[in-house]
Amino acid sequence: MRETTIASFVELDILAKSPAYTDKTYKEKKGCVLVVDDTPTNRVILLKLLSQNGYEVYEAAEGSTAIELAKAHLPTVILLDIIMPGMDGYEVCARLRSEPITATIPIIFLSALDAPFDKVQAFQQGAADYVTKPFQSEEVLARVRHQSNLQLAHRAQQQLNAELESRVKERTYLLELAHSQLLEIALTDRLTRLPNRLAFVKQLSKVMAQAQICPDDHFAVIFLDCDRFKRINDSLGHRVGDQLLKGVARRLSKTQLSHGAIHTIARFGGDEFALLLTQISDRASVVAVADEILNVLGEPFVLAGREIFISASIGLVWGNLDYIAAEHLLRDADVAMYRAKASSRNQYLWFEPAMHNRAVHLLQLETDLRSALENQEFELYYQPIVDLYRLQIVGFEALVRWQHPTRGLIYPNDFIGFAEDTGFIIPLGEKVLKMACKHLAEWERAGLIDADLFVSVNIAAQQLLQPNVLQRVQEIITTAGISTHRLHLELTERSIISNHTFVDQVLRAFQQQNIRLSIDDFGTGYSALSYLHTLPVDCLKVDRSFVHLMTEKSDSLSIVPLIINIAKTMNMQVIAEGIENITQLKQLQQLGCEYGQGYLFQKALPPQQAIALLNRPPNEWIKGWTADSYQTGYTEGWSDDTEWVDAATA
Ligand code: C2E
Ligand code: MG
Ligand code: MG
Repeated sequence: MRETTIASFVELDILAKSPAYTDKTYKEKKGCVLVVDDTPTNRVILLKLLSQNGYEVYEAAEGSTAIELAKAHLPTVILLDIIMPGMDGYEVCARLRSEPITATIPIIFLSALDAPFDKVQAFQQGAADYVTKPFQSEEVLARVRHQSNLQLAHRAQQQLNAELESRVKERTYLLELAHSQLLEIALTDRLTRLPNRLAFVKQLSKVMAQAQICPDDHFAVIFLDCDRFKRINDSLGHRVGDQLLKGVARRLSKTQLSHGAIHTIARFGGDEFALLLTQISDRASVVAVADEILNVLGEPFVLAGREIFISASIGLVWGNLDYIAAEHLLRDADVAMYRAKASSRNQYLWFEPAMHNRAVHLLQLETDLRSALENQEFELYYQPIVDLYRLQIVGFEALVRWQHPTRGLIYPNDFIGFAEDTGFIIPLGEKVLKMACKHLAEWERAGLIDADLFVSVNIAAQQLLQPNVLQRVQEIITTAGISTHRLHLELTERSIISNHTFVDQVLRAFQQQNIRLSIDDFGTGYSALSYLHTLPVDCLKVDRSFVHLMTEKSDSLSIVPLIINIAKTMNMQVIAEGIENITQLKQLQQLGCEYGQGYLFQKALPPQQAIALLNRPPNEWIKGWTADSYQTGYTEGWSDDTEWVDAATA
C-alpha cells in the first residue's frame, strides 16, 4: 500500500507564507535536506516547503539514488520514507550509517500512520527522529530545523576541531623545527661547525650501548689538545686564534677521508678536539689516525701573513665493556692526553689505569699550590753566580722552593711546568719577584752587599705577556726601594721566540729601565741567531746539559765554545750553568767564559746562608779548594783526582 500525502499544495503555500516561515532567516540556506520518497507528490510538497524555507533540497525516489546523493551532497538532514520498492527505509538507513562519510547525517523517518512502523527498529538503525504521515508542515519544518541545526553545529564543531587539529599540527611542526634547530645549535660548535662535546657524548654513548650488544664492535677515542695554543691566542690575538682552530678542524676533517673508521670529530671547546673511531679491529688503526693527525698538524698554518707552527698532545683510549658512562671514557682520554703533554708534547699516549693516580695528584697539586701561595709556603733559595777568574760571587740566581707542610721541600721541576700550564705561574712569578726585591733591599740596608751585586730572577713566558708586565715590575722595584740595575731577569729562548713582536717591545722597555736580561738554558731552544742579535739581551746562560758533557776526554766540547763565541760576537756576557767539577771549570776558564754557577761552588741556599758566603775566601764556599791554591792562582790548587761531581750534595 502506498503512503499518501495529506498536506496539499495550497496548505503548504499558506503555511509557507505565514510570518513564522517566511522569516528571512529561514529563507537563507540553513542546511541541505535530502528527501527520499517513492511518492512523487510527497517529494514535490516537501521540496517546495523546504526550499521556500531556505533549505537546499535534493530528492530521490528510491534507496540507491538516495545513498549516492547523500554521499555527493552530504545533506544536513535526510527525510526518509520507510516503505519503498526495492530497498526500504531501514536498509537505506543502515547503509548510510555504515559509511563513515554519511554515518552522522541525521535521518528522520517518514511513516504513514496506518503503515506498520517499528520505532524501536528505526532508532536501532540510527534514526534521529520520525514524522508520521500525513504530516503537518510545521512539524516537518520544526523537526528538520532541529536536526539540521544540530548537524550544522556538529559539522561546525568538527570543522573547528579539524582546524584546531591542523593548527596544532602546524604548531607542533614549528615547535619540532625550532626544537631541531635548537638541538642543532646545542650540538654544534659554533666556531668550527663540528659537533660539540654534548653531541660527541651522545654518539659515544650510542656506540657504547651497541658494543654491549655486539662485543666485537670495537671502538676507540682520540682526544687531542693543541700545545701552547694559549700563547698564540695571547700574542697574535683571538681572531688569529680562532682562524687557527678552524684550520685545525679542517685538517682533522680531512683525515676522515682516508680513515673510514672515524665516526665523529668534535670540538670540545678551547683547543680540545676528540675523534670517535668505530669498526676497528686493532690498536694499530687508532695509532695510524693519531700519526696522521700529528702529521697534518705539523705542517705550518699561514695566518695573518705569517707561518704558525702548532703541535698537539693526544690521549688514546681503547673502548671496553667496563666503561659504563661515556664521561668516564673521556676522563681517561683526558688523563692520557695530559700525560702526553706533560712528558713531551707533540705525541700520543694510550691510557693506562696507572695514569689515574697521576691525574688525582695533579688535581691535588693545583689546590695545594693555591693555598701554598696564601700560606706563604714559597721561599727563595739563592745560588751564587761566580766570576770564574776571580772566584768571587757577583750575584745570585733566585730559585723558588715550596716548603710543603707535610712533604717537605719541593723543587720547582715538580710544579713550575704545571704552574705554567694552569696560569698559576703569574701570581707565583709575581710573588717570587717581590721576595727577591725584598731580600735585595734588606741586604742593601744591612750593608751586606756591594754596589754591583745582583739577583737574577726567572720569568716565565706568560708573565712577559701580561699587558702590564712593565708597570708591575716597576712597582715591585719601587716598593722594595732597590735600584733597577740589581735586578736581572732570565727568560727562556722559547718564550722570546714564540711571541717575538710583543716580547721585543717589552724587552726594550726593560732595557730602558736599566733591568738586565739573560737568555736562560741557551742552546736548548731554537733561536735564530740573526734574530737574537737584534734583541736587547745582555747575557747568555749556557744550559747545564752542555756543561755536563764537558769531560776531559770528550770531544763534545764543541757546542760550548760555539755558544761562548756567539755571545762574544754579539757583545753578550756568558754564564755557564751546572758546573759540577774542576775539569769543567778549567775548560770554561780556558774558553774565556767569565761567569758560572753550579754545585762545584754551591747549590741554591736559603737567603741567610747565601749572603753569608759573600766576602768569604773560596775555600769556605768552594768544595775542595785549598788556601794554597787560592794564593797561587785558580788553576793550580786543584787536585785532579778529587771527586767533584755533585760536591754540593755530598
Ligand atoms: P734554571 O733557571 O736553569 O735554574 C738552574 C737550575 O739548575 C736550578 O734548579 C739549580 O738548582 C740547578 N743547578 C744549579 N747548579 C747545578 C749543578 O751543578 N748541577 C745540577 N744538576 N743542577 C744545578 P732548580 O732550582 O731545581 O730549578 C729548576 C728550574 O725551575 C729552573 O731552571 C727554572 O727554569 C725554574 N725555576 C726555578 N725558580 C723559578 C721561578 O721563580 N720562576 C720561574 N718561572 N721558573 C723557576
Ligand atoms: Mg734560570
Ligand atoms: Mg737555566
